[in-house]
Amino acid sequence: MDMGNHRGRRFVILDRDGTLNVERNYLSDPAGMELLPGVLEGLRHLRALGLGLLVVTNQSGVGRGFFDLSRLDAIHARLEELLAAGGVRLDGIYWCPHKPEDDCRCRKPKNGLLVQAAEELNFDPRRCFVVGDKPCDIEMGQNLGAVTILVTTGYGSQTWENQATQPDFVAAGLVQAAQLIEHLLKQQND
Ligand SMILES: [Mg+2]
Ligand SMILES: [Zn+2]
Repeated sequence: MDMGNHRGRRFVILDRDGTLNVERNYLSDPAGMELLPGVLEGLRHLRALGLGLLVVTNQSGVGRGFFDLSRLDAIHARLEELLAAGGVRLDGIYWCPHKPEDDCRCRKPKNGLLVQAAEELNFDPRRCFVVGDKPCDIEMGQNLGAVTILVTTGYGSQTWENQATQPDFVAAGLVQAAQLIEHLLKQQND
């Protein structure tokens, strides 16, 4: 992980499953890590805008005993390898290993991981863009007053059809989310 001082920098907080990679229902094998179409293009666009990129992910498969932390590390190493092959580097991956009933502070929609990341990397979590496919992603962002974008990949189309949450924006995927973020940044600079 690339720690450092990012004061003043704005970050995009990305969900993992269904947002960056194909949703597999408790992905437990690095070989099953497959990027969604347009993810590399979208992430390169966000980087070109000067934004930080962080993944924040609920991985209750660990707490449920479906796979262990070394397996989770291997899955994240595979994710970073696929991204690197497309010219994209993340600033970090933050994960919650707990089950819902553990009542931890880090499982989305709670914002413990985002607050921790903001302290470690020194950015303002209220000024970030949160992108994800489930209500918990959107609610974590809303907790902090961040801009929230629902992508309709993964569970996102279902989330949107059910009106299960009220994101600020909806995007078809990372390409469109990046275009939207560029537009929002320009508006704010005008
Ligand atoms: Mg997801
Ligand atoms: Zn947790």
